[in-house]
Amino acid sequence: MDQALQKRLIEAVASTVIAHAEELTSLDSAIGDGDHGLNMKRGFTEVMADVDGLAAKPLPDALRAIGTKLVMKIGGASGPLYGTLFLTLGKELADAPTPSDAARAFGVAVAAVMARGKSEPGQKTMLDVLAPTQAELAAGGDDLLARLKSRAAASAEATVPMRAIRGRASFLGERSIGHMDPGARSSWLMIEAVCDVLARSH
Ligand code: ADP
Ligand code: MG
Repeated sequence: MDQALQKRLIEAVASTVIAHAEELTSLDSAIGDGDHGLNMKRGFTEVMADVDGLAAKPLPDALRAIGTKLVMKIGGASGPLYGTLFLTLGKELADAPTPSDAARAFGVAVAAVMARGKSEPGQKTMLDVLAPTQAELAAGGDDLLARLKSRAAASAEATVPMRAIRGRASFLGERSIGHMDPGARSSWLMIEAVCDVLARSH
């Protein structure tokens, strides 16, 4: 992977998460404990601080290093889950992945998040964005980046009417209905950032 592109990808993901910290916090205030924005901002500020070092590594090493930072800095439920996502991507991805390599690696990473969270899609979590987006990637075909973005957006919106079955929001039962899941929103933000950078690089 081209170092400049890798740097743009890391910066785009980290800066969008940091820029949306307040929104993530307010989503988590509605159905959780209001720390998702701060948790994510802490993790990705650490990533941003080392962006040049991360960009200089081969892609798999960079992803593993990001995963380790996220596990150490985000905390909460989402730290180990996003950490697992990035660590697994680092283990599974080649340095210059094709879309089908990426689909396979992302599939393994989503399965690892499910195992770690003892959770599955349909429970109003980040998995409700990660799993459908992975399915869209695996489908391949034309306009893939635009389709991935709209699938991630629609999937995040679709968490609004869901009732939470996993995570802190599940303590609210019926009262978790009517709000977007904060982790679904943060996953959507990251996917959108990656797609926007890749679309511009073509
Ligand atoms: P905490 O819930 O510990 O305060 P965060 O607020 O940082 O942690 O993250 C909350 C998000 O983590 C939720 O919105 C949800 O998307 C995700 N999440 C929580 N538990 C699980 C789980 N078991 N499986 C998948 N995702 C989960
Ligand atoms: Mg929280």
